[in-house]
Amino acid sequence: MTDERSRSVIIAGAGVAGLTAAIAFARHGLSVRLYEQAPQLEAFGAGLQLSPNATHILRELGVLPELLPYTVRPRAVELRDAGTLKMLTAIPLGEMAEKRWKAPYLVVHRADLQRALLATANQNTRIELKTGARIVNVHQHANGIEASVNCAGHVSNVSAGLLVGADGVWSAVRNAVRTTAPSRFTGELAWRTTIALDEPAGRAFAGIANTDAVTAFLHSRFHLIAYPISAGTKINLVAFTKGERIADSWSGNADIKILAQAMRNTSPQLRKLVDLAGGWTAWPLHSVDSNGAWRAKGAALIGDAAHAMTPFAAQGAAMAIEDAAMLADFIANDDELATRLSVWEQRRKERVNKVVRRGALNHLAWHAAGPVALARNLFLKLRSPEQLAADLDWLYGWRLPESGSVNDTPSAAVPTDQKSPVKK
Ligand SMILES: Cc1cc2nc3c(=O)[nH]c(=O)nc-3n(C[C@H](O)[C@H](O)[C@H](O)COP(=O)(O)OP(=O)(O)OC[C@H]3O[C@@H](n4cnc5c(N)ncnc54)[C@H](O)[C@@H]3O)c2cc1C
Repeated sequence: MTDERSRSVIIAGAGVAGLTAAIAFARHGLSVRLYEQAPQLEAFGAGLQLSPNATHILRELGVLPELLPYTVRPRAVELRDAGTLKMLTAIPLGEMAEKRWKAPYLVVHRADLQRALLATANQNTRIELKTGARIVNVHQHANGIEASVNCAGHVSNVSAGLLVGADGVWSAVRNAVRTTAPSRFTGELAWRTTIALDEPAGRAFAGIANTDAVTAFLHSRFHLIAYPISAGTKINLVAFTKGERIADSWSGNADIKILAQAMRNTSPQLRKLVDLAGGWTAWPLHSVDSNGAWRAKGAALIGDAAHAMTPFAAQGAAMAIEDAAMLADFIANDDELATRLSVWEQRRKERVNKVVRRGALNHLAWHAAGPVALARNLFLKLRSPEQLAADLDWLYGWRLPESGSVNDTPSAAVPTDQKSPVKK
């Protein structure tokens, strides 16, 4: 990407993927125009777990100092039986995670992550962010790409060397370049709320779990994940049940009885916590098949636009961050856009597909019943915390490939997992 037009990038969407991509491209010296349909970047979403594969990149991009004051480094991931509340196992995090995976494991509110990304982006004059600006159409040309942007009813065309579709699960860019399959409802609902530790619900939580850990309460019909956010003052609760499609949007209204029904036969203390917490909103989980194409002439899809996944491996935002940083590294300093995009897509797909499979496995194991649940519990009991951590090296120890060493032919691409510096 050497001439002026081709050294510019248009990004649709200023979520985690779009903001990370903007920072990464600008650091390579490219000028970035970032269009966000929302009138302003609002506090939206709930808690996120950010594993070391993501925080390592955020550190490289200079985002971590902006983020750390709002985060918590959880001591461990603790799995508990939702019926007895007994701990099944604990995977140590905290200092151990940092030592093993060379970057912190953090929990944070999504709004705090977005704020930290925005603060970092604002420090770079190569990035121009326009809010209230929706990308509505895309035209591909011989030497670049053009997008139509709708700002308050006024449509104008902008062109660049590359268009990055970071516009989420209902991506307009994906639809316009007709690359990959549409999103689909997975049949699962996420129920989310946050509680303050000094409220009755916070005290009820402190009575059944450790407030400085990520806790997963497991049951055959649901599971509930809890962890501290907002510098440890609040606990993020998210429960998962089966459910009906309620909306093609992040959150909507659903009958709380679905959650209560899924929780019958669980511990009365856990049910009391859910009652006391209140304020539950339902989030229908939509996914995008990660095997569809993520690129077209002059365009690439990243994050949920390319591969929205169920959150059972807690990796959707982390994969968006990896996609964005690797895309910028791969194509910023090279004229061979098409080949580079192809290698990038192939390598990212290997990685993302493995993560999607891991999420499906977690769901299966966490919702196990009867003898399968007994076998799971025995497996967890026999495995040392060190072994459980080692099982995650491929995921949390992943590092960006060195862009200078990229071999330009897709068939010669080295699986990204082999690039992990973490010793197994
Ligand atoms: C219940 C739940 C729990 C989760 N937990 C975790 C976790 O613990 N860890 C983790 O890593 N991930 C987690 N995730 C996943 C994570 O939230 C998503 O993968 C991540 O936010 C996707 O980021 P994105 O930037 O790709 O998309 P989005 O966050 O959806 O951002 C897309 C942006 O594009 C804008 N936009 C859309 N269309 C247009 C357009 N045409 N023009 C301009 N702008 C547009 C939107 O307004 C939005 O701002 C979870 C998800 C859920 C539902």
